[in-house]
Amino acid sequence: MENYLLRAISTDGSFRAFALTAKDVIAEAQERHDTWSSSTVALGRMMLGGLLMGANLKGNDKYTIKMSGNGNGGLIVVDANAYGDVKGFIQNPHVDLRKTSTGEVYVTQATGNQGVFAVIKDMGLREPYAGQIPFVSGEVAEEFTYYLTESEQTPSSVGLNVHLDDEQRVKLAGGFMVQVLPDANEDTIAKIEKNLQNMPAISQILEKNSAEGLLEAIFGKDEYKVLSKTPVQFKCDCSKEKFARGIISLGKEEIQAMINEDNQAEAVCQFCENKYQYSQTDLEELMKEAK
Ligand SMILES: [Zn+2]
Repeated sequence: MENYLLRAISTDGSFRAFALTAKDVIAEAQERHDTWSSSTVALGRMMLGGLLMGANLKGNDKYTIKMSGNGNGGLIVVDANAYGDVKGFIQNPHVDLRKTSTGEVYVTQATGNQGVFAVIKDMGLREPYAGQIPFVSGEVAEEFTYYLTESEQTPSSVGLNVHLDDEQRVKLAGGFMVQVLPDANEDTIAKIEKNLQNMPAISQILEKNSAEGLLEAIFGKDEYKVLSKTPVQFKCDCSKEKFARGIISLGKEEIQAMINEDNQAEAVCQFCENKYQYSQTDLEELMKEAK
């Protein structure tokens, strides 16, 4: 299991933590959307954050997380659920700005340094929960941290990293989310805060020993218990039938116009770039159901 998420708890029960490594998940997003460096890292961090938050969900609940700022990347949208499925897109996939001397990728070139970070929690039949905060820095992890602490009132610390190689391909991707539990012990809080401050770079840890290494850096060896280890994957739930419902909702006239103009139609999923074709016969069938 190379792309996985760990759910853990500190041995004294003061903290819960989630850590993941998901190189192939972010690489798939890069390939599907043809993202360039800054866009890859911005979208990748959002997807990692989405997976970490999704790990706290139950059943079929899901999160939609949006970043809408003044960067060149435009809107970024990510969907994640409790099963480790994530999908996402960035409006402009071709933002590419790196520091000449070190190759360091400028993420805020894609996200921006001002904007709105919004979260919608979809709980099936119940009214969805929505919350939003202004950008903290545009670096993404800080937005997650601030959102969880302020809007969901769960004091948290989030770290996210997407590391690219010299060809701008995803080399490493992963992160963590640590949350203080209600009965937390003051001494433990102080200790974990110190550990987080002194923590080596996430990419450095992932390179050596993966997601377990992140938990060890946060809690110390043998100071945490892994509750579960589950796979994470890029997964889109789109289908020809789903888009067909969208076409039906356009109405008879609009569908007739498609037939008159092109004798066919094509739908492209913005989350995964899959394409669906509708022949004239398909469209005529859909028209029967349309108003
Ligand atoms: Zn799709």
